[in-house]
Amino acid sequence: MLNIVLFGPPGAGKGTQSDKLINKYSLVHLSTGDILRSEVAAGTQLGLEAKKLMDAGNLVPDEIVIGMISSKLDANPQAKGFIFDGFPRTAKQAEALDKLLEGKKTSISMMLALEVDNDELIKRLLNRGKLSGRSDDADESIIQNRITEYNNKTAPLKDYYTHQGKFRAIMGVGTVDEIFTSLCSNIDLNN
Ligand code: AMP
Repeated sequence: MLNIVLFGPPGAGKGTQSDKLINKYSLVHLSTGDILRSEVAAGTQLGLEAKKLMDAGNLVPDEIVIGMISSKLDANPQAKGFIFDGFPRTAKQAEALDKLLEGKKTSISMMLALEVDNDELIKRLLNRGKLSGRSDDADESIIQNRITEYNNKTAPLKDYYTHQGKFRAIMGVGTVDEIFTSLCSNIDLNN
């Protein structure tokens, strides 16, 4: 199986690149942000609780997102592989993911990290907020909080995957197609 963690701060282009990668490599896209937004839209209890945290730019508790990923893995037994987008975001989530995949006799193949500087991220997110209507993209202080959450809790996962020899940095600035080409070259080289 080809199991990729697509990594990077909010606004790095993970969603855009995931859509292209799942088509090329026939993978299943698992985005915890998308799953949470569909719970919010459906008005479930989980969605109501998550919305407050998401609107403030804070992370949702580990147990919730780990449970969501676990049921999506169970729901796709025939998958050729997965793209994990926006998950894992904490050390606890990364450890849980390794265990879940081990239980399915597979593992993470690589972590591909899209690198983009802070000013560019804020510019992209404010622009996306105008187009998508996402409330957490509309306000610069919430965006800043999401980036702080990323720097404190998520960025350290670079070390976790480096220890496993799975970390690959990709320049996340350029055209969508240029970035996609770098991602594919890395995948093809390591697969
Ligand atoms: P995203 O679409 O990945 O930017 O996620 C939007 C929001 O959903 C984040 O700011 C968090 O509040 C929440 N979220 C998404 N994925 C996770 C995760 N793996 N762990 C905790 N919170 C998450």
